[in-house]
Amino acid sequence: MARGEPLATGIKHFDKIILPFSKKGLESKVQHNIQTNATLINEAWCELFKNYNFKVGVSVDGPPELNSKRKDLHGFQTYFRILKGIEYLSDYNIPFSIIAVVSEDSLDSATEIYEFAQDTGCKSLCINIEEKEGVNLGGVKSTEKVKEFWRQLYVAWRDSPSVRVREFDRLFRRMDFICKNKETIKNEMLPLEVELIPTISSSGEVILLSPEFADISGDKNYNFSVGNILEEPLRLILERGIKSYYVQDFIKGVRQCREECPYYSVCGGGQASNKYFEHKNINTSETQYCRNTKMALTDAILELV
Ligand code: SF4
Repeated sequence: MARGEPLATGIKHFDKIILPFSKKGLESKVQHNIQTNATLINEAWCELFKNYNFKVGVSVDGPPELNSKRKDLHGFQTYFRILKGIEYLSDYNIPFSIIAVVSEDSLDSATEIYEFAQDTGCKSLCINIEEKEGVNLGGVKSTEKVKEFWRQLYVAWRDSPSVRVREFDRLFRRMDFICKNKETIKNEMLPLEVELIPTISSSGEVILLSPEFADISGDKNYNFSVGNILEEPLRLILERGIKSYYVQDFIKGVRQCREECPYYSVCGGGQASNKYFEHKNINTSETQYCRNTKMALTDAILELV
């Protein structure tokens, strides 16, 4: 994984990087996904996406007034170039999703964001409430306003459900499972949900739990790199990685979530990156992120269904 716009690598180099995955026997085992700001998409990129069956996600926050923070390296607005990229995807019949970052400024605009997603012809809308993460020290703080955002979005979706909303899909899957097993389910019986999510950085370092840990140095307690793929097989790195201090610390935090939090059955214990960036500690439970995206979302939906 390298940070930044993946298409900026250039199509020739990109094609060279993914070519090994098209070897016989591998194609059916590998799913390519790409998250892009879409500004560089043209016919050639669309051909490549089609050839390799890419799942495409476009980063756009909504109509122009909500998208003004997305600027290029020269400080110019990217909105109309994003739309052009989306047009190419549509012309080539390439299904795509939209990821919209919602900040304090756009919390009142759930309906506009949903209608914008419908207008683009995307298959699904993914909402990222702005988080405190890496160099971004802000993040949305008013959980009550976030709850109102989820309410508005749910009503817009319920009245015209032509676009899937990732957060609703996830929550409904969980709720469905709980409803079917409500006689027997207790938090302590639910599994500890720990996905290792191995991420490989551009220098070959293997990072576990959260791709956001790639290329950051951690601190005296946490060394996020558990090995280098250029030096040893992934299997060995994973066997060692799961015993690493920070992964074990994260598991302790998830255990605490399972013991104490009434939302565990719909959440599963949160993300390591949010715990680290908010508390500088992974062995912990509640974060602003989980209040906004798990608790507020669940409360809003339960009040409306
Ligand atoms: S909502 Fe927060 S405190 Fe509750 S299980 Fe999820 S991460 Fe843990």
